Amino acid sequence: MSRIVYVDGAYVPEEEAKISIFDRGFLMADGVYEVTSVLGGKLVDFEGHAVRLERSLTELGIAVTLSRDTLLDIHRELVKRNNIHDGLVYLQITRGSDGDRDFVFPNPETTSPTVVMFTQSKPGIMQSPASKTGIKVISIDDLRWGRRDIKTVQLLYPSMGKMMAKKVGCDDAWMVQDGFVTEGTSNNAYIIKDGKIITRELSNDILHGITRAAVLRFAQEAQMEIEERSFTIDEAKDADEAFVTSATTFVMPVVELDGAAIGSGTPGPVATRLREIYLDESLKAAI
Ligand code: PMP
Repeated sequence: MSRIVYVDGAYVPEEEAKISIFDRGFLMADGVYEVTSVLGGKLVDFEGHAVRLERSLTELGIAVTLSRDTLLDIHRELVKRNNIHDGLVYLQITRGSDGDRDFVFPNPETTSPTVVMFTQSKPGIMQSPASKTGIKVISIDDLRWGRRDIKTVQLLYPSMGKMMAKKVGCDDAWMVQDGFVTEGTSNNAYIIKDGKIITRELSNDILHGITRAAVLRFAQEAQMEIEERSFTIDEAKDADEAFVTSATTFVMPVVELDGAAIGSGTPGPVATRLREIYLDESLKAAI
């Protein structure tokens, strides 16, 4: 069934959606994106995603042309028109097109950003089979650029990392820089040792996950101990548990790293509990 998507102010069937071949998102990956999950027809953590979007745009000097209220209206309209119960809304904003290819940015007075949004339906996303078994990850070098705090559409290396994992029968890759784990290809990474939740501190080296912020808040409220610091692959292999977080996988247990079982090799109690709390609270707060 054809989706209704949003392109620069218009709701159109996906087959009719068009952007220019000169769009800088296409030619130069000059754009940013957000993924907001939908549970029970409602948006999870919309405000957090809107705030990060504005920050990403500002960091790249792309104009913020849509207010938060307008963005929320468009998200809701797409969820409604496409009958999304569980799934996600993808949003991408690029620097636009001035009808040619040039390394120099187009004049923002005359070239406005391109805004594209679409939905993906993912029935049963809350009870995904992977959340029951946990996922297997490999470690790879982190070869991305230095501003990973900006959520750009430069996803080639993360995509290659995912394929490296698939090739050896695993699910995902944890990226390593100077001996320390930065994050997963599309998620933030955590280990648990002696009841303590350990995850890399925020910096330009990682994306400031919206799910990360929520999970750490819930963990704190549940009196769990949190240590925001870098950790190595060896430390992760020796951990009691591990997990990743993202808007679409929520809290996902990691049970194997580079072929070695983590803890019991099955989803651990802390990750399982955090997943339950996160889903409960997110369902309550969704708008
Ligand atoms: N790190 C990276 C590299 C990501 O791509 C993502 C998800 N897009 C995340 C972390 C998790 O962020 P969030 O919780 O906001 O989905």
